[in-house]
Amino acid sequence: MRGGYGRTNRASAQAKRWLSSVRVAGLAAADQLNKVGHTVTVYERAPPGGLMTYGIPNMKIEKETVLRRIHLLEAAGVKFVCNAHVGVNFDAEQIKQTHDAVILCGGATQPNSVNVPGHDLEGIHYAVDFLSATTQSLLDSGLADGKYISAKDKHVIIIGGGDTGTDCVGTSLDMGAKA
Ligand SMILES: Cc1cc2nc3c(=O)[nH]c(=O)nc-3n(C[C@H](O)[C@H](O)[C@H](O)COP(=O)(O)OP(=O)(O)OC[C@H]3O[C@@H](n4cnc5c(N)ncnc54)[C@H](O)[C@@H]3O)c2cc1C
Repeated sequence: MRGGYGRTNRASAQAKRWLSSVRVAGLAAADQLNKVGHTVTVYERAPPGGLMTYGIPNMKIEKETVLRRIHLLEAAGVKFVCNAHVGVNFDAEQIKQTHDAVILCGGATQPNSVNVPGHDLEGIHYAVDFLSATTQSLLDSGLADGKYISAKDKHVIIIGGGDTGTDCVGTSLDMGAKA
């Protein structure tokens, strides 16, 4: 990153900075940099809200809260470019050349597999795929488009008893899982 974080002199106030993503680290960095006068653009591969909107179930965070935060940042001058998957459908090199500094806030969406035979069999899914597809379908069509992994009438086994596992329990039960 060229230029010091949080510099407030005139030159750095005009610096353009690149931030990916639209989630926790990206939003916090955008807010802080914008507050001290930098010109900030956030690139996010997902629709507005990124994984905060689509990865976390509605029962846990209302999406209006996330969008409200984004609208507040937009009103304060932060620019958001969504559906921009940097390195895939959006040129990373071009961003580097047209901005003074880059902050990578891409999160850790690579799932952790279970290293046992059969881990890739049909019916075995990663939590974020399951949760994201469900929330997206819910927001887009109230689940009418069928573009989600249904747990209805299924006996669901969840490996991993943390926060993400709890979200999978709640989502499965909401869908009408048998157990
Ligand atoms: C299901 C689930 C439930 C959770 N519940 C809680 C909770 O209740 N409380 C809590 O404190 N924490 C919770 N967490 C953890 C919390 O979400 C993470 O700690 C936090 O989101 C990490 O923030 P981050 O900004 O580093 O990354 P992320 O939030 O993962 O943000 C990364 C963003 O970068 C985008 N991105 C990635 N690559 C690119 C690219 N090449 N181009 C453009 N954009 C890109 C992604 O789309 C994503 O929006 C939960 C996590 C999960 C998965």
